[in-house]
Amino acid sequence: MQDPDCIFCKIINGDIPSTKVYEDELLFAFNDINPAAPVHVLIVPKKHIQDNNHITAEDEVIAGRMFTAAKEIASQLKIAEDGYRLIINTGRHGHQEVPHLHLHLIGGQPMQHPMG
Ligand code: 5GP
Ligand code: ZN
Repeated sequence: MQDPDCIFCKIINGDIPSTKVYEDELLFAFNDINPAAPVHVLIVPKKHIQDNNHITAEDEVIAGRMFTAAKEIASQLKIAEDGYRLIINTGRHGHQEVPHLHLHLIGGQPMQHPMG
C-alpha cells in the first residue's frame, strides 16, 4: 500500500513533517511547501498510487473522495465561493514531480496561469 522511498508516503506517515489540513480514512491533505497562491493544498490518497495512469476500478472510491474532500477543504478555507483551481499533473509532459497521485487545490486569488 505504501512505498518506503516515496516522499508523500513519508508525509502521510509523519516521517516528514507537514501542515495537515484534512485527513480521513482514505486521504491526507497538507499545505504545499512551495505555494503557487495564498491557498495551495495537496490532497493525496493514503494508498500509494503512482499517478492518474495507475488508478484502477478498485480505486474509484478514493478518486471520487479526492473531489469531495477538495470541496470540503475549499469551504473550510473560505475559498469555495470565489472559486479555485484543481490540478492533477501526470507524467513527464504533465510536469509531475512527485510520483504519488495528488490533487492540487489552488486558490485565494484569481488564477494567473493559462492552461496548457
Ligand atoms: P507535482 O509537480 O508533482 O504535481 O507537484 C508536487 C508538489 O509537491 C509541488 O507543488 C511541490 O512544491 C510539493 N512538494 C514537494 N516536496 C514537498 C514536501 O516535502 N512537502 C510539501 N508540503 N510539499 C512538497
Ligand atoms: Zn507514495
